[in-house]
Amino acid sequence: MAATQKLSGCRLPPLPTIGEIIKLYNLKAQKQLSQNFLLDTRLTDKIVRQAGNLNNAHVCEVGPGPGGLTRSILKAGAADLLVVEKDMRFIPGLQLLSEAAPGRIRIAQGDILAYKLERRFPANITKTWEDDPPNLHIIGNLPFNVSTPLIIKWLEQMSNRTGIFMFGRTRLTLTFQKEVAERLTASTGSRQRSRLSVMAQYLTTVKSCFTIPGQAFVPKPNVDVGVVHFTPLAQPQIQQPFKLVEKIVKNAFQFRRKHCRRGLGMLFPESQRQELTEELLCSADVDPTLRPTEISISEFRALADAYSKLCNENQGLFDYDFREELKFKHQVKRQSDRSNQTELS
Ligand code: SAM
Repeated sequence: MAATQKLSGCRLPPLPTIGEIIKLYNLKAQKQLSQNFLLDTRLTDKIVRQAGNLNNAHVCEVGPGPGGLTRSILKAGAADLLVVEKDMRFIPGLQLLSEAAPGRIRIAQGDILAYKLERRFPANITKTWEDDPPNLHIIGNLPFNVSTPLIIKWLEQMSNRTGIFMFGRTRLTLTFQKEVAERLTASTGSRQRSRLSVMAQYLTTVKSCFTIPGQAFVPKPNVDVGVVHFTPLAQPQIQQPFKLVEKIVKNAFQFRRKHCRRGLGMLFPESQRQELTEELLCSADVDPTLRPTEISISEFRALADAYSKLCNENQGLFDYDFREELKFKHQVKRQSDRSNQTELS
């Protein structure tokens, strides 16, 4: 059973192949955990190459599963690899790998969305934010159902320099459904331009690396997969709190096909909507007839700065949510309809 792995950089002793590991531990893929495995070493090596030089690096791998990508990370020379896997069934297979690479793998069973990565790496690898990135990488063939909330969480931590970004500008090499990868990297004016494009691009240099066809995975997902590399920017393109930027971008993209004036207007209570929307667009010098997809990052920066100023001048504005106002109006209408009916009967 033991098939010798041809290893380029850092040799591992002979190990069962990933296919054999799957059979040995009866690791049937579970759909609810988005389990689609990569068994082709050339592809896992290629993903790992996108991360850059991993010699002596600290790495966190998200969702190692049966360990194909894990082996490629070890082969690339990572000195300290923390793997975070939710599904207990993979732990024995990973332990086998850990015995083959003594002292280089730490196995954690947990949910990456809640896991405190910052507690698991030594403080002495920290670089200042403006410095070169630290020798710490996040790599993962991500579960589809977690990838979007996870990247949003990491972007927020990046903006606040918390979590894994306490160590500096930690780089990420991750897979996404091709459509999500396209949104992350979409340029101003393109069809795929979305909230995700703006949120990722104001904080990072995003690089679309290559596409993996669905049939390369076991089982085969319905979609192709894109590999994306992120390097946090030393100077984020928008210097406002993440939540504020998120609110503006979310509102702007609310009515994708309409002029941006429509969605941005929903930032303001109905009674002042027209006046404050004009003021926002005017002080940001943004054309109200642009579609949300046509707004550049520098225009979003101007909008964020102008909105922040308006929030400082109008107490409670940041907490305004047009959905709450609509809900309240519907309630009042229902009550008045009911009392009209009572009067008539
Ligand atoms: N890395 C393996 C590969 O490339 O073949 C498996 C990738 S598979 C797409 C995603 C992996 O993430 C699975 O092993 C799954 O159990 C794990 N996973 C799913 N949700 C997770 C979560 N919330 N936290 C950590 N791991 C998770």
